[in-house]
Amino acid sequence: MRCPSCGSESCHIIEESETRQKGYGVCSGICGYLILGPIGFLCGLCGMGEGKTTRRAFWICQSCGRKFRV
Ligand SMILES: [Zn+2]
Repeated sequence: MRCPSCGSESCHIIEESETRQKGYGVCSGICGYLILGPIGFLCGLCGMGEGKTTRRAFWICQSCGRKFRV
């Protein structure tokens, strides 16, 4: 694999995992609290930790550090 930026052949493939994590659902927690009380407040906590992990493979150039997609 040749780097499209500098033409170097010292490129390595890497796999990156990107995790998008939701924070605490403040709105749903407060709304839940107002409607349902403490149980509703816990519902906001239930929304925590729901994340999506996406895996991507990249080539990374050791000469210029440029990343490019496979
Ligand atoms: Zn390069």
